[in-house]
Amino acid sequence: MRDGTIVVAGASLAGLRGAEALRAGGFSGRLVLVGDEPHLPYDRPPLSKHVLTGEIAPERTTLPGVGTLAAEWRLGTPAVGLDRAGRVLLLAGGERLPFDRLLIATGARARPWPEPAAAALAGVHTLRSRDDAAALAAALAARPERVLILGAGFLGCEAASSIRALGLPVTVVDPAPSPLAGALGQVIGGFVAGRMEGAGIDLRTGTEVTRLEGEDGRVRRARLADGGTIPADLVVVALGAVRNTDWLAGSGLDADEGGLSCDRACRALDEAGRPDDAIFAAGDVARFPHPLDGDRPVALEHWGNAVAQAAHAARAMLAGPEAAGPYAEVPAFWSNQFGLTIKSLGLTEGADAVAIVQGDPRSARFLAAYGREGRTVAAVSINAGRWLPAYEGAIREGAPFPPITGGADQPRPKPVPPGLPAPQPA
Ligand SMILES: Cc1cc2nc3c(=O)[nH]c(=O)nc-3n(C[C@H](O)[C@H](O)[C@H](O)COP(=O)(O)OP(=O)(O)OC[C@H]3O[C@@H](n4cnc5c(N)ncnc54)[C@H](O)[C@@H]3O)c2cc1C
Repeated sequence: MRDGTIVVAGASLAGLRGAEALRAGGFSGRLVLVGDEPHLPYDRPPLSKHVLTGEIAPERTTLPGVGTLAAEWRLGTPAVGLDRAGRVLLLAGGERLPFDRLLIATGARARPWPEPAAAALAGVHTLRSRDDAAALAAALAARPERVLILGAGFLGCEAASSIRALGLPVTVVDPAPSPLAGALGQVIGGFVAGRMEGAGIDLRTGTEVTRLEGEDGRVRRARLADGGTIPADLVVVALGAVRNTDWLAGSGLDADEGGLSCDRACRALDEAGRPDDAIFAAGDVARFPHPLDGDRPVALEHWGNAVAQAAHAARAMLAGPEAAGPYAEVPAFWSNQFGLTIKSLGLTEGADAVAIVQGDPRSARFLAAYGREGRTVAAVSINAGRWLPAYEGAIREGAPFPPITGGADQPRPKPVPPGLPAPQPA
């Protein structure tokens, strides 16, 4: 396909990179990007890092390439429905946008605090968008007395690191036994916990906040499941993400808050599991069969996946699913927090062993490999990103665990249980 109309729903990282790939692939027809935010596509990773520390202004996060894309923009205009039979995207305000191909890249939003009245208290924040980051940065500039972060996943830990760097007192609460336990397990999470406490974070793991309480419309404290109370005048709710699929209700596509199901060629699946040849998905919203995990459906929240999957979807749109082949990028993620650059390759979920295969945690520079049933499935580097690419082949091939790398002077790796949560049933 070289001409006609392609519509992209979701004008952020995956939407922009998908649109660019369409143009680079020779698409010369009408290209329309629809975004509910009023902004041109911007980058989210800096929002929990340099934007919170004040080193980058929120409006300086616009993604490179936006200005040169030959496309029409419908910003500040959510897609509200999809007429699949008629091949029309329905926009707020009543506009009907016909398409020959549609790329769905509506990503995810922050999971809010479950009690709406408490979530609406002044001082309670989530962090997903540029506007969220600007509001949080402004609240931090007013020097709150104590910041409470709910959730010690990547976002919560990064926010804790950035806010602590401002010299503010920070408490982090998570029901898991360590930070990052869900993504990296308790072994690596325990190492990160030491760094957090060393930086002066009041870390409360193994307990959870049951109530947020306010006075005069402003949050004042949190009640813990173990009976304790934490005074807090600023709360960051970092409880994970919900995929933006509600607008697809009634479309017949297989979508829920865990994602929009698609096949290996990024084609959206209907409720009967049949691919729709005109509708594709990419980025955080997409739930796709991953060949590294026996085609188990996964939905990633990785910057690199949004870019690579959008490019793959564009190829499949233009050349057809067979020519594009299956999407099989090795998942890759990074995070910066507490003086650590954490990078990961592969899928840790379901791993039954972890071993330090290079470096030494005492020097805060090491690489851990993850194994599942004797096969290498993932690797995580801490301040040692240069070592990581050497493990991609072992992960791709499922090489015996622990993988053979490192120098002759490296002690024999000692695998231990990684302390990951039990895998979710498919
Ligand atoms: C604070 C933060 C820090 C991060 N740091 C890292 C990091 O260090 N490393 C890393 O690998 N990843 C990181 N990520 C994850 C990474 O940013 C995401 O994986 C990436 O943004 C996904 O891009 P996307 O385009 O698929 O989705 P999104 O970025 O979520 O974009 C989706 C867009 O679609 C819009 N939309 C939603 N519904 C509709 C609708 N109905 N109509 C029109 N538009 C709609 C949304 O408002 C949004 O603008 C971070 C994410 C956040 C929030």
